Amino acid sequence: MELRISHLYPDLLNIYADRGNIITLVRRCRWRGIAVRVEGFGLGEEPDWHAYDFFYISGGQDREQNLVCRDLAAKGAGLVEAVQAGAVLLAICGGYQLLGEYYRDAGGGELEGVGLFSAHTIAGEGRFIGNEVIETEFTGAPLRIAGFENHGGRTWLGEDTRPLGRVIRGHGNNGEDGGEGAVRGNAVGTYLHGPLLPKNTAFTDELIRRALAHAGADTELAPLDDAI
Ligand code: GLN
Repeated sequence: MELRISHLYPDLLNIYADRGNIITLVRRCRWRGIAVRVEGFGLGEEPDWHAYDFFYISGGQDREQNLVCRDLAAKGAGLVEAVQAGAVLLAICGGYQLLGEYYRDAGGGELEGVGLFSAHTIAGEGRFIGNEVIETEFTGAPLRIAGFENHGGRTWLGEDTRPLGRVIRGHGNNGEDGGEGAVRGNAVGTYLHGPLLPKNTAFTDELIRRALAHAGADTELAPLDDAI
């Protein structure tokens, strides 16, 4: 058994050390003796959607989002199908915005999204920057997770879409409704950089557990020493 991770646009969407999320996924698997493979896919490269248990897409500025959005929208059907079949997806900030229906950027241009999340994003006045804490039920019990947000876009969720959590400190999706991120099945979108995963190990392990279940290994994860 091998956990298979697909990293979308590793060269273009990699801001605020978000690559640390991949390092954390890999390390926490290997420390437990779980084999893991990561493959990157850039512009014009199409993964075999059914060959992966975990998809990861990170953040970027408007410029990089403009570069990837058409390519990503073209890949959308494959990604949505994989998520519907139970694959895990983690999308951070700019990647999260592009998985909604559209993102109207700071220049007024409209970037087509994948529509995986029923959500849209519109650039607002000023940026939401700073440390953020949210409370989520993603692991089945209330869990606080911490990260760093830096975005000009305000995201509004459709009525049928659940946020990842509620903001304890910071701004979240739009600074108004108290929601942060979005969840659809095993797909998670969030504004939390940090990087997110090394800072929030219980959340990381929940993602790994779900990805392993998709790979056919529905097992308890051995505990790790997270004291540091
Ligand atoms: N360009 C987007 C915004 O500012 C996303 C930024 C990011 O990914 N950090 O809203």
